[in-house]
Amino acid sequence: MNKPLILVVEDDKSVNNLITTILKTHDYRYLTAVNGASAVIEASSHNPEIVLLDLGLPDTDGVEVIKKIRSWSNMPIIVISARNEDKDKIEALDAGADDYLTKPFSVDELLARLRVVTRRLSVAQNQTMEEASVFVNGALRIEYAAGCAYLDGKELHLTPIEYKLLCLLAKNVGKVLTHTFIMQNIWGNSGSDDIASLRVFMATLRKKINCDKDAVPYIQTHIGVGYRMIKIE
Ligand code: CA
Repeated sequence: MNKPLILVVEDDKSVNNLITTILKTHDYRYLTAVNGASAVIEASSHNPEIVLLDLGLPDTDGVEVIKKIRSWSNMPIIVISARNEDKDKIEALDAGADDYLTKPFSVDELLARLRVVTRRLSVAQNQTMEEASVFVNGALRIEYAAGCAYLDGKELHLTPIEYKLLCLLAKNVGKVLTHTFIMQNIWGNSGSDDIASLRVFMATLRKKINCDKDAVPYIQTHIGVGYRMIKIE
């Protein structure tokens, strides 16, 4: 498979050079932009597969760039931020970003994030209509029409909320979902904004889908931010 085309949006020259050097070394194709306006133009004219986006840009907030791109495209966006604050990450994720990296990050971290979103891309691209009605990830299988989930071929006994949570994570596999996003999707706007009860439901769901204690956990916790289902290779 051709390595994906990546749009790097970063105004800091040294960080920009570091990222493009890493991409070059690993045979990724890339484009660069140094501000929000040119990022939007590059994204619309070259249709990259992945966007690496710095949040602190000279002309506009990176979150505005995410909103603009999301108005026409679902391309994966990984936010890169020097701000080590949860609220910036959460704002970016709620605007439609897929994942985040906090500066300074290592080469391995960057490559790992790229692999995660690349896997999500290949899942989305290779899915036919028929396959879209069934979700398979490692030993986990969801049959949406039947409303059933299985682990290693055995039906899971999930409560309605656990099942909804599992489907929401599965439909967004590879993507970090914020607490707010999850709660709005499960309970609606009028519902609970009680993160503590979300944690309880998530804990019981996890217990049911991670029978084998040596297994790779399907659901990753992002402390203070939210949760993500990992695509098992
Ligand atoms: Ca910057």
